[in-house]
Amino acid sequence: MYDDQNIFAKILRGELSADKIYEDEHVLAFNDIFPAARIHILVIPKGSYTSFHDFIEHASEKEIGHFFKAVSSITKKLDLGEGYRIVSNVGGFGMQTVPHMHLHIIGGEQLKSMHK
Ligand code: 5GP
Repeated sequence: MYDDQNIFAKILRGELSADKIYEDEHVLAFNDIFPAARIHILVIPKGSYTSFHDFIEHASEKEIGHFFKAVSSITKKLDLGEGYRIVSNVGGFGMQTVPHMHLHIIGGEQLKSMHK
């Protein structure tokens, strides 16, 4: 069940501000308020999907394709140097805190290994 009071839904409706870096009819990207690295962008579909899983299950192939092409195009516009990380946290074990589908683009510096 999609909670339309989540922070990203409020950003999409213009009720909360965000430092937007890209927008089109179906996709919005903005700076994360608590960056994990020099560059930390959140990319969200404008449709009401709770998670990556929900998005893949319920969005149209056109919407999904458009979304990932937009992510790729955003990475090309950023000063990401020698690489970057794309992450989507899903659910409780994945530590997802905002229940609107989003990808994190993280980079702009040497990242730490994801291994313990
Ligand atoms: P999650 O933990 O769900 O994978 O990612 C949610 C992200 O949203 C976190 O990295 C968090 O810093 C970011 N965030 C939470 N509240 C806000 C906000 O009001 N504005 C922006 N720009 N980012 C937010």
